Amino acid sequence: MDNDFQSHTDQERTIRPQLSMANTHRPQPFHTPQQPMQQAAQQAAVKKCPYCGFDNEPEAMFCAQCGQPISKMTCPHCGAEIDPDADFCEVCHHYIRKDVCSYCGAHLSGNEMYCPECGSPKGGLVCPTCNTLNDFAFCKKCGTALTEEARQLVRELQKNPDYQELLEIVRDYSKLENALPYNSERDMMREQNGEKLRERVLMLLAKDEGVEAPVIRKVESKRMTKDQLEEQKAVKLSMLTAILDKLAVPPSPSPVQVRNYAMASKPVGVRLAWVCNYKHAMHSSPCGCAKPQMGGKWIVLGRNSSAEINDDK
Ligand SMILES: [Zn+2]
Ligand SMILES: [Zn+2]
Ligand SMILES: [Zn+2]
Ligand SMILES: [Zn+2]
Ligand SMILES: [Zn+2]
Repeated sequence: MDNDFQSHTDQERTIRPQLSMANTHRPQPFHTPQQPMQQAAQQAAVKKCPYCGFDNEPEAMFCAQCGQPISKMTCPHCGAEIDPDADFCEVCHHYIRKDVCSYCGAHLSGNEMYCPECGSPKGGLVCPTCNTLNDFAFCKKCGTALTEEARQLVRELQKNPDYQELLEIVRDYSKLENALPYNSERDMMREQNGEKLRERVLMLLAKDEGVEAPVIRKVESKRMTKDQLEEQKAVKLSMLTAILDKLAVPPSPSPVQVRNYAMASKPVGVRLAWVCNYKHAMHSSPCGCAKPQMGGKWIVLGRNSSAEINDDK
């Protein structure tokens, strides 16, 4: 046991002997005075910025030169370490800003039960489609717009030509995803023989009715070989990737705005993940990202890649 630890526990023992044992084994509740932070500040006279090397005041939360966050905060719900400019804890999945409405970004005093701007309750909104409780304006599970502002955003996006193009490609792509290719050469032969038989029957029927040169319309098969299908899918996929890149959300001062815009622009019918510019993590949506204000984009997920997503639903 080193001396520091010895004197620390001795001190506690003299102040609150009956609590010292319990205290050493229990995490500090978030609202107690921040003793550990004071100690840390005394140890380091200056705080070096890990991004640019600038020597900052010991209590600085952000670098005075480059503006990057240099102090960690603790999540008020679970105590996890988080950046001071994060508004969401990725460990316990709670929204953590009391002064900003999580639905519309309006400034709050912190004591409101409902946002004076958008009227949303602080306790969360239940999605009418899937019953999930949400802290944000869109359902993190099914994508339903939950506030009037969110519905308005969706209506605006639907007028955007890029977004319309995206929806069209998604429709084509999901059609191909669900298409059934020929399993074998025999499959293809069977379908061709079936078509020949149909033509012959129609021809005979027409002759019975006295038509000498009947016009028999060919039935175009919608099925294709596995290779043809994969090729078409690859073409659509690269178109889809290109348009999702084009619709990538740039960094913005407001995390709430980025979250809402990204959720509003998510098309239905294809499996997507949100890749953020913060940690380049793959989220199921920007609702699982601590810093959506850094921007990000949707990417297409393969059929069996759900394991790559690192947040909960
Ligand atoms: Zn810096
Ligand atoms: Zn937390
Ligand atoms: Zn609001
Ligand atoms: Zn939902
Ligand atoms: Zn993220």
